[in-house]
Amino acid sequence: MTESATLLMAQRGRELRAQGKDIIDLSLGEPDQDPPAFAIEAARTALDENKWNKYPPVMGYADVRAAIAHKFKRDNGLDYAPEQVMVSTGAKQAIMNVVISLVGPGDEVLIPAPFWVSYEAQVRFTGATPVLVSSTLEEDYKPPIERIAAAITPRTRLLIFSSPCNPSGSVLTQSELEELAAAVLKWPDLLVISDEIYEHIVFDGQHGSIGTIPGMAARTITVNGLSKAFALTGWRVGYIGAPLEVVQAANKVQGQFTSGANGIAQRVAKACVEADPSVIAGLRNVFKRRRDLVLKGLEKIPGWACNIPQGAFYVLPDVSRSFKGAITNSAELSMYLLDHAGVSLVEGDSFGAPGTVRISYATSDALLTEALDRIAKAIAALG
Ligand code: PMP
Ligand code: GLU
Repeated sequence: MTESATLLMAQRGRELRAQGKDIIDLSLGEPDQDPPAFAIEAARTALDENKWNKYPPVMGYADVRAAIAHKFKRDNGLDYAPEQVMVSTGAKQAIMNVVISLVGPGDEVLIPAPFWVSYEAQVRFTGATPVLVSSTLEEDYKPPIERIAAAITPRTRLLIFSSPCNPSGSVLTQSELEELAAAVLKWPDLLVISDEIYEHIVFDGQHGSIGTIPGMAARTITVNGLSKAFALTGWRVGYIGAPLEVVQAANKVQGQFTSGANGIAQRVAKACVEADPSVIAGLRNVFKRRRDLVLKGLEKIPGWACNIPQGAFYVLPDVSRSFKGAITNSAELSMYLLDHAGVSLVEGDSFGAPGTVRISYATSDALLTEALDRIAKAIAALG
């Protein structure tokens, strides 16, 4: 398996900081804010109750799954019964459970690019073949539906995408989701993983769930979690809503791998999904301000170009004009910026976007401003 490029850069930044170097870390997709107070309170209550200390049911506690089913309906218009919901150790494990359940050698999995790094690695791990469908900056990093449809073959079992997209911030419109659904519905054995972990972090336009489109409920595994909306990356809770047979298969995988998600963290999950989504507005507004700040800062970097991300907390500038001299690709440019600007970014190749770097703006305005200044100087120095 390849090492996760996002986690690798984050680790490198930590190590350099431990050596006393002044590194601004824009590599990791992790909200810098504190989680809402009610979430921490829910954990405290759960500890005091002293009854969540044993193995939880593999699928997750029944009341937590019921609360998630209710959230899917309330926020997304999705009809998943509680028995179609499963709680896992982060959305990452939730996706892996499904991928292992559904595909193996001989199968193809469509992944529109750019994509989140772990989709490709997880698919490869099963022996299935990831089929990457590319897109360009001019296309707002959304492959046209015809290109996706043309890549489907009788061996295609799964399509995986995130909207809002990590790493591009692109958001699929309702009509794009409908076109995508129409392409999928032509193939009876094709399922979709719709990763909606950034659903609440949308600035322009609106988040839509492909599972609500007629015919798609039986085809869609909807993924979500606490990490992004509630700034609870470390508690490791993610979940799916899925067709019953998919949940049952994922349940077997989870039962053999982890026995289920941490009990206390599940109590926190219940409080989070029961909360009114308006509790996330503050976080969203902060990210919108930072997006605008970063877009402005990027204008000052010679030769870099980007789309306007509509959601999530990343920008994916095309940096290929800075490939000069010894620097021939994004990985080398990222290392140059780490060494000469003290800024840690992730190279775009791992996201299926060569010629780009990913900047996470989930950090303070002051650090973002400083980082962009340093990048601009280091890039100007390349001549
Ligand atoms: N999907 C996407 C698109 C992500 O960016 C992340 C980032 N962590 C995840 C899934 C996994 O989230 P977690 O495992 O923290 O729930
Ligand atoms: N998803 C975040 C990112 O893309 C966190 C790191 C990871 O899990 O890959 O940076």
